[in-house]
Amino acid sequence: MIKTGQTPRLTVVVPCYNEEPMLPTSARVLRDLMQQLMMRRQITVDSKILFVDDGSRDQTWALIEQLQHHDAVFTGLKFSRNYGQEAALMAGMQAAQQFSDLIITIDADLQDDPQLIPQMIEQARAGSDIVYGVRNDRSTDTWFKRSTAQGFYWIMRKLSVNLVPNHSDFRLMSRRAVSALMQYHEAKPFIRGIIPQLGFPTTKLFYKRQPRQAGTSKYPLRKMIHFALDGLLSFSTAPIRAVLYAGIGICGTTLIMLLWILVQHMRGVVVTGWSSIMLSVWFLGGFQLVAISIIGEYVGRIFTETKHRPRFIIQMDTYSAAFTQTTSL
Ligand code: UDP
Ligand code: MG
Repeated sequence: MIKTGQTPRLTVVVPCYNEEPMLPTSARVLRDLMQQLMMRRQITVDSKILFVDDGSRDQTWALIEQLQHHDAVFTGLKFSRNYGQEAALMAGMQAAQQFSDLIITIDADLQDDPQLIPQMIEQARAGSDIVYGVRNDRSTDTWFKRSTAQGFYWIMRKLSVNLVPNHSDFRLMSRRAVSALMQYHEAKPFIRGIIPQLGFPTTKLFYKRQPRQAGTSKYPLRKMIHFALDGLLSFSTAPIRAVLYAGIGICGTTLIMLLWILVQHMRGVVVTGWSSIMLSVWFLGGFQLVAISIIGEYVGRIFTETKHRPRFIIQMDTYSAAFTQTTSL
């Protein structure tokens, strides 16, 4: 939401991790778009593109420095090491909320259609604080990625965690929505789960997701599983409950089995059942390991949260410098 008649200052936050092959193209597309928006007075001329370099090991930061040398629309934040996409997004939004009316987050590979940005700004002008970019066509994702994502949304819905299906991190937020988000102090915020909890007037805009044009996905299977587990465990204690019910179920079944064995004994049938004993031992052993590890995951989470460590460490920040220098002139 922005005041009517006011031209908003926009910051586009772009998390970058080893995006050297893609960055020049993305930078050009985003800059051209920003220029058009500035010319049409849809955003102020001091609006910025903010690249957050998430500890890349390639030339990403050198490229960002080059870009900002040529055009003042580009600015950058550099992490001291790799902290993950969520941390990069939080850092970018945290910096941007001080200086911007509107903040848009978009991936560096432009798989999400940047041409949706003007419409997002229109929606903000019409009164929305949060505008979600939602993919209505995921045909460019692999079958595996699509089906695992579907499974994830299904489980989350069953656990009553409110997520916007097929929305990733392409969205617009007003300054007040971002400052509300910043009040969530968890060490590992699951942003896609928190934002729908914020409330505020919200809209969805649909687009077709494109394939990555250069570079590789930074989400191998291992990272996807981590992301899904983080989301699940930080929003719900239902898995612990499920284990409890399963435990009660198994104990009940064992009791029935015991009665049955007693009856058999009384009837003089001597059970030599090696297989049944082995099966129960293995099953119970496995089940106990699962139960303990689920509890362990929660305890681990409590451990990381109580340490109150910083979510990220910023090594360089040319974004805030851009504004503090111009205002002090
Ligand atoms: N990214 C990041 N830190 C990471 C992993 C990814 O900042 O540790 C960024 C990456 O540079 C990209 C965005 O997050 O801008 C999404 O990553 P990617 O496109 O590889 O994910 P996918 O589209 O395959 O899900
Ligand atoms: Mg991508």
